[in-house]
Amino acid sequence: MRKLYISLGLILFVLVACSPSLPTATTPENQAFPKEQAAGELQVYYLDVGQGDSTLIRTPKGQHVLIDGGDNHKGDDVVDYLKQLGVESLDAVIATHPDADHIGGLDTVIDAIPVKSVYAPRVSHTTNTYKDFLMAVKNRNLKIKSAKAGIELPLDGVTAKFITPIGEYGKDLNAWSAVLKVTYKDTSFLFMGDAEHKSETDMLKSPEELGADVLKVGHHGSETSSSPQLLKAVDPKYAVISVGKDNKYGHPKGIVTNRLKKADVEVYRTDKRGTITAMSDGKNIIFKTAR
Ligand SMILES: [Zn+2]
Repeated sequence: MRKLYISLGLILFVLVACSPSLPTATTPENQAFPKEQAAGELQVYYLDVGQGDSTLIRTPKGQHVLIDGGDNHKGDDVVDYLKQLGVESLDAVIATHPDADHIGGLDTVIDAIPVKSVYAPRVSHTTNTYKDFLMAVKNRNLKIKSAKAGIELPLDGVTAKFITPIGEYGKDLNAWSAVLKVTYKDTSFLFMGDAEHKSETDMLKSPEELGADVLKVGHHGSETSSSPQLLKAVDPKYAVISVGKDNKYGHPKGIVTNRLKKADVEVYRTDKRGTITAMSDGKNIIFKTAR
């Protein structure tokens, strides 16, 4: 009998030792990212929220802008990230468009952290996720400010300007995506939300506005975004793709990553590197990644 127990124990041990390790959850706790800010530094945190988007901009003057808040179940993670970074208030929250993987977590964030302004394009949605977002804004006694081409965020020392939406796009939510360009001295960042070819075509009417060092790739690397013409106009040195591991959409698509590779763009992906931090001193940009 004793022998049987020993053999069973041995089998169990071998099974456990040889089983492939389970993927660990990417919670903020197991993600190391730079929390300090050097004087005169602009920091952009492309937060790892799985399949979705959430980006924090910390300006050299210590102002904070949050673009999107990940999916519904990621709101707490985003709040954790912000708390770890010592964010006590947000100068602006931008909801790029009403899709759940962008605005889902924003109600949790807006409930948890004081917000000065909320920007969103003038398009609504019927989902409960969208209603939760509206309710959180209302509970803070705020009115949503319109995100559209030409509007600038009132920030000190950096320029943050909406490039889109340029037109009206009916029920095409991705086309409504508010694209933001942030410029700090000689460096610039373009945040595409889920803008697709329709928005890109409109953006390309003013190509001189699009040049940027870092491109946050549109729609998680979908083939419906990042046309060769857009990449040519932006001419980025770096690209960041916010994407979940093994996502059901097959994002990012090979055609897009190949296009970036061909254009000699250094690509960072949140599914591979976790939270990605870009730091600019106004001249040079360096990247740090959690993995
Ligand atoms: Zn999306």
